[in-house]
Amino acid sequence: MTSTVASDLPDARGYFGAYGGRFVPETLMHPLQELEAEYFRAQQDADFQRELSYYLREFCGRPTPLYFAERLTRELGGAKIYLKREDLLHTGAHKINNAIGQALIARRMGKTRVIAETGAGQHGVATATVAAMFGLKCVIYMGAVDCERQALNVYRMKMLGADVVPVHAGQKTLKEAVNEAMRDWVTNVRTTHYILGTAYGAHPYPVMVRNFQRVIGDEARRQILEKEERLPDLLIACVGGGSNAIGLFYPFLGDTGVKMVGVEAGGEGIIPERHAARFQGGSLGVLQGTRSYILQDANGQIQLTHSVSAGLDYAAVGPEHAWLRDQSRVEYRFATDAAALAAFMKLARLEGIIPALESAHAIAECIRRAPTMPGEALVIVNLSGRGDKDVAQVAAKLRIEMPL
Ligand SMILES: *Cc1c(COP(=O)(O)O)cnc(C)c1O
Repeated sequence: MTSTVASDLPDARGYFGAYGGRFVPETLMHPLQELEAEYFRAQQDADFQRELSYYLREFCGRPTPLYFAERLTRELGGAKIYLKREDLLHTGAHKINNAIGQALIARRMGKTRVIAETGAGQHGVATATVAAMFGLKCVIYMGAVDCERQALNVYRMKMLGADVVPVHAGQKTLKEAVNEAMRDWVTNVRTTHYILGTAYGAHPYPVMVRNFQRVIGDEARRQILEKEERLPDLLIACVGGGSNAIGLFYPFLGDTGVKMVGVEAGGEGIIPERHAARFQGGSLGVLQGTRSYILQDANGQIQLTHSVSAGLDYAAVGPEHAWLRDQSRVEYRFATDAAALAAFMKLARLEGIIPALESAHAIAECIRRAPTMPGEALVIVNLSGRGDKDVAQVAAKLRIEMPL
């Protein structure tokens, strides 16, 4: 059961088959080459790996448990369900795995300033956190609309010492924030590293972010072998840009008996501009440095997207996922807002765990599928983050009264 698929991708130019690559202005070519060289040097460097595991353990709280969801399993009446508890990490989601790794790369490169884009604010908070911890200057670009919707995370970033710059262009959300971060990087590249938050963008970001997130799958593989003495039958993870999903999936890609499902945001259903499921109605295109599946109209204009969960609400998906879908190695489905909200409540009530709305999409797929599986089947769901950030929004949606 050695890995034959995907383990040697991307190729030297950053391609996963037809997807990936480096589609950026000339001025960003050199910084990306420099980053690529330094990242691959670090990856081979035992001191770097030791330092990375030190911070993952001592600062972030790894390893995270692989938790047997006993009451959810009983209620659904099928497969045995395990949750990979990334929600228990410092700052509340898997994003810190990547932020720590890239901050260490920035330090190696002698950079004194880091910048990042953020949508819901989770990646901004993770970046501001590691910047404070390593004593780096930090600027976070965030759409002006998102700043309003996610005021709590804006305060968190500011308390951690970051400058939060509201971006007023276009839709005033994540896509515009990425453009501003790229503009800053071009201008300040001598002092600055751009900590991109998902397995997306120009080479080497998709491979680098995947490798920083694969710790999720490496641990889960070891833990399930300890607990069950065999590999799981099914892995389920939500897919925004795709970093938590590829982090869980990657170490299992060569295990042909392990099925995998990525769950995109189905929003209000697969109607143009009402969802963010790139594999339903998306097409091949180039956006923000890479070639992948993108929600665009007939003229190549990026379409509006919608999801109840801000972390899944993006018009493009990471290039490695597009490749894995072509290979039929990973199946991609979607969960609607309504299904995610129902899953959010079910996990809270049955397991005492309030999941992030993003992760609730993965739980929704588990709720749909586990009952159809035999009792000895094993499922691992990646619980990518905790739901504290979403509590007010869910309360408003479901009209739960929360008297103080
Ligand atoms: C950002 C985020 C996601 C989506 O990003 P990926 O790169 O697809 O993992 C999922 N879950 C949580 C909790 C997030 O914060």
